Amino acid sequence: MKIRELYEKGLAILEKSDVPDSSIDTKYIIEYITGISTTRQMLEADRDVDEDTCSKYFETIDKRATRYPLQYITGEQEFMGLIFKVNEHVLIPRQDTEILVARALEVCENKRVLDMCTGSGCIAISIASLGKPEKVSAVDISPEAIEVAKNNAKINNVSDKIIFILSDLFDKVEKEEDDGRFDVIISNPPYIAHDTVATLMPEVRDYEPNLALEADNEGLFFYEKIIKESPDYLKKEGMLMFEIGYEQGKAVADMMTNAGFTQVQVVKDYAGLDRVVCGKLF
Ligand code: GLN
Repeated sequence: MKIRELYEKGLAILEKSDVPDSSIDTKYIIEYITGISTTRQMLEADRDVDEDTCSKYFETIDKRATRYPLQYITGEQEFMGLIFKVNEHVLIPRQDTEILVARALEVCENKRVLDMCTGSGCIAISIASLGKPEKVSAVDISPEAIEVAKNNAKINNVSDKIIFILSDLFDKVEKEEDDGRFDVIISNPPYIAHDTVATLMPEVRDYEPNLALEADNEGLFFYEKIIKESPDYLKKEGMLMFEIGYEQGKAVADMMTNAGFTQVQVVKDYAGLDRVVCGKLF
C-alpha cells in the first residue's frame, strides 16, 4: 500500500470515530509507524509500504479510534519545547499549564521550588531546565508517576537538580522549624469536580488517570489542603501558585486571601480564561 492510501483509509477510520483533529493524528500515526515525518508525507505519497508495516499501522489506527490518546500511543508529548515521556500513569502535559510555568520562571532564580503533584514531572523539569532555581523538589502520591518523572528528568538532563519525593501531599516533605523551606510552591493538582468527569472527552475520561484528574468538594479539595498546609513549608514572602479550572479563580483566590496570602492574582490563559492563581505569603 502507498502512503497516500494509508492516509486516506486511516483518516476515514478516525473520522468515523469522531477523533478530534483526525487528519493531524493520522499523519502523526504514519510518522510513528513508518518513520516518515509529517512534513515529508506529501512528497512521499507514492512510496510503497510493506505489509507488516501496514498491518501495524492499521492496528494503531484502530487503537486511536477507540479514543485512546495519541500521546500514550507515541509515548511522548512536547511541553515548553521539551520532550516528556508519558504513559497511562500520568496526565499528558497540557499547553494550558505552560502559563503557570512561564510565571514560575519569572520568580524562580536561585530559589527553592516545590512542585506538588508532579505527575510526568513537566512543571518541575521545565523549571529546572529552563530556569535557574537553586533546587527543585517534586512530589507525587503515585510511585508509577514518580518513575515517569525521574525518567523525564534524566532525558532532559536535570536529574541532579531535582529531588523526587513519594508523598501524599506534604506528608513526607520535611519542614524546617523556623522559616520554612521553599521560596515557591507550585501545583497543578487534580481539579475536576466528580459531576464534570462524565462530560470530558473520551480520551481524558476513559484513559487518563483518574487520580490526576478528579477532586472532591467541587474540584477544590486539593487547593484547600495545599493552601492550608503550605504556609508551614514556605519561607516568609514565599509564593504559592496554582493552575486552576477556568471557573475556580474566585474560589481559590478567596481561599488564599483568607489563609493570609497577599497580592493574590488570577491570571488568564491565551483563550482569555482564568487559568492561574498566585499569591505571596505575608
Ligand atoms: N503536574 C502535572 C501536570 O501539570 C500533573 C498534574 C496532575 O496530575 N494533576 O501535567
